[in-house]
Amino acid sequence: MTGPRRVLVVGADAAGMGAAHQALRTAARRGEELAVTALDAGSHTSYSACGIPYWMAGDVGSGDDLVARTAEEHRKAGIDLRLHTEVVAADLAARTVTTAAGDVLEYDDLVVATGAPAVVPDWALRPDGTSYDGVGVVKTLDDGAAWVRSFARVGPGAHVVVVGAGYVGVEVAEAALDQGFAVTVLTRTRGMGMLEDEMSERVNSGLVDAGVELVLGAEVTGLELDGDRVTGVRWAGGSREADLVVVAIGVRPATDFLAGSGLEMTDEGALRPDPHGRVADHVWAAGDCCEVRRRIDDQWVFRPLGTHAAKHARALGDSLAGGDLSFGGMVDTSITRFSAGGVHLEIARTGLSRSDAETAGLDPVALVTDGTTAAGYMPEAEPIAIWVMADRATRRLLGVQVVGGHGAGKRIDTAAAVLWAGGSVDDLAWMDLSYAPPFATTWEVLQIAARRVAERL
Ligand SMILES: Cc1cc2nc3c(=O)[nH]c(=O)nc-3n(C[C@H](O)[C@H](O)[C@H](O)COP(=O)(O)OP(=O)(O)OC[C@H]3O[C@@H](n4cnc5c(N)ncnc54)[C@H](O)[C@@H]3O)c2cc1C
Repeated sequence: MTGPRRVLVVGADAAGMGAAHQALRTAARRGEELAVTALDAGSHTSYSACGIPYWMAGDVGSGDDLVARTAEEHRKAGIDLRLHTEVVAADLAARTVTTAAGDVLEYDDLVVATGAPAVVPDWALRPDGTSYDGVGVVKTLDDGAAWVRSFARVGPGAHVVVVGAGYVGVEVAEAALDQGFAVTVLTRTRGMGMLEDEMSERVNSGLVDAGVELVLGAEVTGLELDGDRVTGVRWAGGSREADLVVVAIGVRPATDFLAGSGLEMTDEGALRPDPHGRVADHVWAAGDCCEVRRRIDDQWVFRPLGTHAAKHARALGDSLAGGDLSFGGMVDTSITRFSAGGVHLEIARTGLSRSDAETAGLDPVALVTDGTTAAGYMPEAEPIAIWVMADRATRRLLGVQVVGGHGAGKRIDTAAAVLWAGGSVDDLAWMDLSYAPPFATTWEVLQIAARRVAERL
């Protein structure tokens, strides 16, 4: 081989560009040179999709504010970045990829960082496969811009139907309420289905108290149309008028271009990289197109989150360039908030669900504890509910979920740290946490919740 090693990154957002920059940094440290090319089908790089709902809500002034690094900045750092360049096939034996324009590019190392686009059901599309105005997903910066325009077009008082009550659905409901719309949330299951029932019910109540019409068990079957204009949404057993319909029912790995490449994938198309990001000889992968290893029960799970993409990418980029950073898996931690209509709920979880624990053959004991986020006599004190689960036989902490007011959500990180270390419910109950009246009760509520479970074991 003559010249520097050629690294070809497919997908130039969080994972792809994180990996590319880390590879360049590690290579420079080692006195080596890499020729990094990054291809992306879209028109933006390195932006925070996580911030899009807050842009829709009006909390963030413009889509530009969500861009961490522009295409120009990547190019100045020495990356040959090519936007509007979709990869449609890969030949791992020949070490080439083919673009939609028919170009064939050679590589020495391939980085797959194609993410997971939002699922768009057939009922949300015109018969020719295009999208109706005012019906779509929230995934890319272009989606965000389209929603900001649609919100302005229909104006306050219009009816927004959100299909899906997971993280994105709840965040969009907040945005739509903030903008003065009537909001209906439809969900096939329940609000925040990744929570246990008793915690999910608290989210449901918060949504309803804020003025959201929440319909549980509603499986959407189609749109109602006036010509080409959307006027409503139908589900088995009901319908609702709608000026705008936001579809937030999940994402799926963008790995179709690897079909037939021989690369091992799950039925859903996810890749399972080793801790250094390697999926095969000279092939690496990071971010939402991958599953992640959950440390507690040693299971691969699909958790398309930016926090994993960033860590994955760093380990991958470093390893690809000869370093040895590795991604140590995760403990299934996530957080969001719903703050609108006079309601403020912070919603977080870490660890296993009860059904995960039972599947793993454990004997879970779980309890919900209600308390306050600060000493009851302080004006800051807000209600908080904490669900704690531990294993009866080993006393190992298995999972914690939190729903509560200001200051509730990030308490989850203490529980995540205990889970990460493989600690027990007693560790959580007795570890040295901070206390002063504006921040906690003398016995911190998270520790009371752990103590109650410990007493039941
Ligand atoms: C509304 C919203 C809110 C979110 N909130 C949070 C949050 O609060 N916390 C959190 O941790 N995570 C959150 N996430 C998830 C987070 O944004 C993703 O985990 C993260 O963007 C994943 O980065 P990625 O680089 O793997 O994938 P992506 O950001 O999806 O990037 C993949 C890139 O690959 C390109 N691509 C795909 N296929 C091809 C192809 N064949 N050829 C060329 N290019 C291709 C795409 O155009 C895209 O630019 C949120 C996501 C959304 C949509």
